[in-house]
Amino acid sequence: MRRLEKPLDDTIAVFEKCIERIKDQGLKQRLEACKQEIHDASREFDSKVGEAMLHTMQPSNMSNGVTTDEMKKVYTNRMAKKLAPGREYYDKLMSLPLFGKCPLCSQRTVSTLDHHLPKAHYPTLVVSPLNLIPACQDCNKTKSEGIPRYAHEETLHPYYDDVEGFSWLKAKLVDPLCQNSCHC
Ligand SMILES: [Zn+2]
Repeated sequence: MRRLEKPLDDTIAVFEKCIERIKDQGLKQRLEACKQEIHDASREFDSKVGEAMLHTMQPSNMSNGVTTDEMKKVYTNRMAKKLAPGREYYDKLMSLPLFGKCPLCSQRTVSTLDHHLPKAHYPTLVVSPLNLIPACQDCNKTKSEGIPRYAHEETLHPYYDDVEGFSWLKAKLVDPLCQNSCHC
């Protein structure tokens, strides 16, 4: 995994931008009333992810009658879609990896944003930049909708974890023709 610079954009600023063109005033008011819980969820995520404590973050529904589907649509239609009001934030996150290489596999090209904690269980985090990781299609699918139940089930996060200096694999070359016991 490649480390990425942690995005500094404020979750509420992103959320406000995403919902600014909603014409249905009832829906807009219900969404606006959720700002505090969206802010709190992002803060909790930020404080827990680096400590491998995300498994203690409880999945929750939104208040004010806002459904998970409505929040998913805020992301899909108002942030990810081309020309969407929040698309500038989407593009900014997509441009983080050097040469567009997926930070999770370091092999394929970035083509999507992966929700580190999935939308279906954490609607409060659908547009939080800290929860959105640029990734290739394959890595995104592999992670799917699973949520960590224990610390060891938490996956690495490119904004918080740095394993680039860690030696994952070692090899010793043994020449079977060598007569010495030096394993040269
Ligand atoms: Zn990948």
